[in-house]
Amino acid sequence: MRRTPAELDKMRRAGRVVAEILEKTRAAIRPGVTTRQLDEVARAVIAARGARSNFLNYHGFPATICTSPNEMIVHGIPGDYVLEEGDIISVDCGAIVEGYHGDAAYTAPVGKISAEAERLIEVTRRSLHAGIDQLVPDNRLHEVGRAVQEVVEKENFSVVRNYVGHGIGTAMHEQPSVPNYWPGSPGPRLKIGNVFAVEPMVNLGGPETLELADGWSVVTKDGSLSAHFEHTIAVTEEGPEVFTMADV
Ligand code: MG
Ligand code: MG
Repeated sequence: MRRTPAELDKMRRAGRVVAEILEKTRAAIRPGVTTRQLDEVARAVIAARGARSNFLNYHGFPATICTSPNEMIVHGIPGDYVLEEGDIISVDCGAIVEGYHGDAAYTAPVGKISAEAERLIEVTRRSLHAGIDQLVPDNRLHEVGRAVQEVVEKENFSVVRNYVGHGIGTAMHEQPSVPNYWPGSPGPRLKIGNVFAVEPMVNLGGPETLELADGWSVVTKDGSLSAHFEHTIAVTEEGPEVFTMADV
């Protein structure tokens, strides 16, 4: 799907709301805070900006953000979990403005964390940006996954295969999928106006995943730590434009 300049402008505005959620939830993370409190921070931003939540009620999802601590990879439900010193917490969030979606995620430390956890977060963040750099006109989509995988595996971490990035626009999840690994084919040629959510999930141990009995939470099968970073990015003439990053 190629978005028109007017559509891209709406996605830019949705992205700014998402960027504000990223910043405000991140600022609220500290030992003693519950994941439900982080959800409330996100809900307040969406209300203040006159946006809508794309997570709430998505296939019945009961909250505005996903909060996934430690060995949880994605889709954790905010609730009574109390953040503890030494945890890592992945926050995934989105917003809709005038029918157009933004989607982004980050993993943050709670207080002082281990050197290994710090390295996992840093490598995952770096792998996202290596993937984003591939989003230029005429490149092939699966170069994103190749770049992500190279950064991750050089550090002896593993890339999750069972969950991937996606096209985004008038729905949160649109075709095509954006794998975070080389899937064996180059994929579609990138065109100006394409918009993708790129979202590497990186495990300290193996790539295998397990869904918990709540029907949402996905954890690492081996119990190792996992990190997740995501942005919504457009392919433009000038290169990749990240919509979900705060203005600097
Ligand atoms: Mg997301
Ligand atoms: Mg996404």
